[in-house]
Amino acid sequence: MVSQTTRDEMTWYECEYCGLLFDSQEDARQHEQNCDAEGPSYIQ
Ligand SMILES: [Zn+2]
Repeated sequence: MVSQTTRDEMTWYECEYCGLLFDSQEDARQHEQNCDAEGPSYIQ
């Protein structure tokens, strides 16, 4: 799930698997669906 963070007075959306930041929540969501970084399980 994408997490929202604020840096430099801008809102960013962070992939919780690899930590990549996006300025668009939609971009972050699309990235997460394709993210192959190991991290928290996709299945909870
Ligand atoms: Zn990612």
